[in-house]
Amino acid sequence: MLIIMMRNSITIENKCWNRHIVCGVTKILNAGYSIESSKKAIQLAEEYDFVYASVGVSPNDVEDKLDLLPKLAAHPKVVAIGEIGLDYYWNKENKELQKEIFMRQIEIANEIDLPIIVHTRDSEEDTIDILKNKRQCKNKGVFHCCLLNKEFVKEALKLDYYISFSGVITFKNSKNAEEIINMVPLERILIETDAPYLSPEPLRGKRNDSRNLRYVAQKIAEAKKMKTEEIAKITYNNAINFFLTDTCHLSQI
Ligand SMILES: [Zn+2]
Repeated sequence: MLIIMMRNSITIENKCWNRHIVCGVTKILNAGYSIESSKKAIQLAEEYDFVYASVGVSPNDVEDKLDLLPKLAAHPKVVAIGEIGLDYYWNKENKELQKEIFMRQIEIANEIDLPIIVHTRDSEEDTIDILKNKRQCKNKGVFHCCLLNKEFVKEALKLDYYISFSGVITFKNSKNAEEIINMVPLERILIETDAPYLSPEPLRGKRNDSRNLRYVAQKIAEAKKMKTEEIAKITYNNAINFFLTDTCHLSQI
């Protein structure tokens, strides 16, 4: 019943989808982060009905050429452009190039009529500045693996974007997680794995996969004083409404 995002790289070999379905994950959005991984994401989406893909070049892969991206993005199971964005934690030296690649991909999203999945790390101000003042995405987007930064979340919500929470909200050192979760209205929340990274407590440090998503839903439920199943249902519906709205995609639900 949940929908998640996970990096591909993995599961073609594992063939462990059935276990994921047993755990209540019935649809998966597999996010690309480079041209190569975007092609793989499409390949998986073609192979499995319940898998969807996003395609994009992340700020850590900016040497990839964007020429192929519009063609990949036009695939019927591609539901977003991403992950795209800015990352000054890993790369401080090429900020201008990162911005250029980010903005060009927002244009592609607008041309093909898709939303975006945004990655931002140590670059919140520039990311918001681009989305607010320089290149608006007409179909909006989601901030994936949301940073637990109050000011940033406030700005993200003003843009009318979704906030996607990962295992980070369950970490013992994420002291303000509940406060941040409560800043975000239910209709703006999505959940994700960011697999193979960011396994939630109590599995922190192990390889992550979509079966662990229930801990993320559970943490949100605790903060919102609701039932985990309710959060699972709401975030699932949010994801469906956001990513699979057009009729061509709806026929596959
Ligand atoms: Zn990311």
